[in-house]
Amino acid sequence: MENNDDSVLAASLESSLLDLRRAEETIKYQHRQLYRMEVRYNELFNSLGDAFCVIEVLFDNDDHPMDYRFLKVNSVFEEQTGIKDPLGRTMREIAPEHEQHWFDTYGRIALTGESLRFEHRAEALGRFYDVYAFRIGDPKDAQVAILFKDIAERKRREELQAYLLRLSDTLRSLSDAVQIQEAVTQLAMDQLAADRCYYCEIENGNAIIRSNTVRSNLPLSSNAPFSNFTIVTNAINAGQPFVVYDAHTEPALDEVSRQACIQFQAISLIVIPVVKEGKPRGGLGVACCAPRKWDAGEIELVKETAERTWIAVEQAKAGEALRESEENYRSIVNQSIAGILKVCLSGNIMFTNDQFSSMLGYSGSELLKLNVNDLIYAEDQERNRLAFTALVSAGTAYEIEKRLVRKDGGMVWVNNHISPIFDKRGKVEAATIVSIDISRQKELERQKDEFIGIASHELKTPITSIKAYGEILAGLMDKSTAPIIVQLVTKMNAQVIRLVKLIYSLLNTSRISGGQLTLQLEPVDLNALLGEHVLQGQLTTSKHHIAFVEQQLPLVFADTERLGQVVDNLLSNAIKYAPKGGDILVRTESRDDYVRVSIVDFGMGIPKAAQEKIFDRFYRVKEASTEAVSGIGLGLYICREIIEKHQGRMGVESVQDEGSTFYFELPIYRISE
Ligand code: ADP
Repeated sequence: MENNDDSVLAASLESSLLDLRRAEETIKYQHRQLYRMEVRYNELFNSLGDAFCVIEVLFDNDDHPMDYRFLKVNSVFEEQTGIKDPLGRTMREIAPEHEQHWFDTYGRIALTGESLRFEHRAEALGRFYDVYAFRIGDPKDAQVAILFKDIAERKRREELQAYLLRLSDTLRSLSDAVQIQEAVTQLAMDQLAADRCYYCEIENGNAIIRSNTVRSNLPLSSNAPFSNFTIVTNAINAGQPFVVYDAHTEPALDEVSRQACIQFQAISLIVIPVVKEGKPRGGLGVACCAPRKWDAGEIELVKETAERTWIAVEQAKAGEALRESEENYRSIVNQSIAGILKVCLSGNIMFTNDQFSSMLGYSGSELLKLNVNDLIYAEDQERNRLAFTALVSAGTAYEIEKRLVRKDGGMVWVNNHISPIFDKRGKVEAATIVSIDISRQKELERQKDEFIGIASHELKTPITSIKAYGEILAGLMDKSTAPIIVQLVTKMNAQVIRLVKLIYSLLNTSRISGGQLTLQLEPVDLNALLGEHVLQGQLTTSKHHIAFVEQQLPLVFADTERLGQVVDNLLSNAIKYAPKGGDILVRTESRDDYVRVSIVDFGMGIPKAAQEKIFDRFYRVKEASTEAVSGIGLGLYICREIIEKHQGRMGVESVQDEGSTFYFELPIYRISE
């Protein structure tokens, strides 16, 4: 039995031992598992980019959170907090200034088990954290796990962005340079919680402060502290930022500057120069009455502000200058006695000055709804259209005399100078018109023409009779006539011929201006016509030799008498204006649709500037060489009118002191005509 009992005991011991061993194995296994888990967790925590720690919140007897102890931290912890060896130590021990709200928050999490995500500044650590905290383990242990990240840099950027946005909004609403400086300095001062802020402009090496923003409780110094500090002005001139944390101890300050800083209560300061094209142009200064460890973000903020202020101030100044010049320009344009307008290529009026509107009896706004072509007198429209088309295609300016119709239906004669306005690619995009009222001048001209017309008409009849009597007298003379009488009658008749020519010139002029110059057109053989007139011309001079060689020429369609008048006039000019004598060449050439006749002399020639004007009525070149030559300046005017009436063209090529070539071109006669 005993044996039996022993064996039972042994067996049960055996089995208990086995159980124990198994239990021991299980425990070991669990320890190993736990260890592995711990290692894995640690690896996990350490691999986190964010900092992680587990704390135990310490409460007083009334369950008020007093402090917390670090139980566990990951490898990023130190970098994100600046705290070394925190394990086992409490936060109050490490940073006694740490804000109470941190303890309150973690205390609440430990007591309630709620998890929390928040962002908060930790002034004592100089950080700004984004935190996620939650309770772990047994609530009795008051343990909180914290996952956190320093977001000071992001916060700084966000704050800077928000500030810059405010700054931009402020700048956008202002257009006055001084107002901009005032607004900016106020904004920057508030943003940095500083005590003074100045913006200065650098002119001729001097810092000029136009706005002087100081906190209200500080004495307002009317002078400019920064520009008084040689060291600061030197920094600005060198284009370097100048930062002082504490003027009492700053080694970069010389004694005078230090005393000035203390006197002006500018104990810490940042001065940022704005450098453009290598030269300091402006500067922004911020100062505090107390020492201050400016951080990079604050310096950056002042830099950005300075740069933007400079741009805004420059823009405001440029805008102001533009407004001023526009104002000047507008008043010049409106005070001008000439009408000034701008038209687009289709003729719509884009701008008009007061003078032009009052000249036509419209208001400025009425004119802006009109097309300039609507204002042109019907008969002048085609001439105007041709000239304007040339301006658009070739970009050439032109001058034109034409009639405009007033709002009340009346007519105004104007002399217009039209110039093209080019776009960036050099294409004509619009035109400016300077318009002068010449109605009075035109009226005087009309009166003059009328007088010339009446006078020459009245003179024509008696002079024709005198000419006839002179010719009769000459016919009555014979060998018995006293030589003195022959001489006087011959001279008288020559002068009468001159007078007749003169009166006919005047008569022609008034006919032309009255539109009464009529032509008897017929096919004309130019060789015959020229031959005859050359012969007559040659009879009037012994000093000149007129050379004319006939060419094979087609007929032209012309008025023989008028054309003869032109040839006579050109030949007599060639003789008159080559007083020393010499050759005169009469040339002809047939080109495509027309024949060109040229009369070449080697006389005094015509100055370049006068070459177009000599075709104007009564224009004569006033030079010593022409003084002795008689004339009234009507011949070429009449010639050109006659040729143009033939649908031809007349011109001159001349070199002073070498001679002139006058030419005219006439269209060839075609049978169908
Ligand atoms: P007039 O000869 O009566 O003055 P014209 O109309 O015929 O008037 O000529 C105008 C002006 O042109 C002249 O005054 C003269 O100065 C200039 N002129 C005309 N023909 C010639 C010429 N062949 N050579 C030089 N100058 C000329």
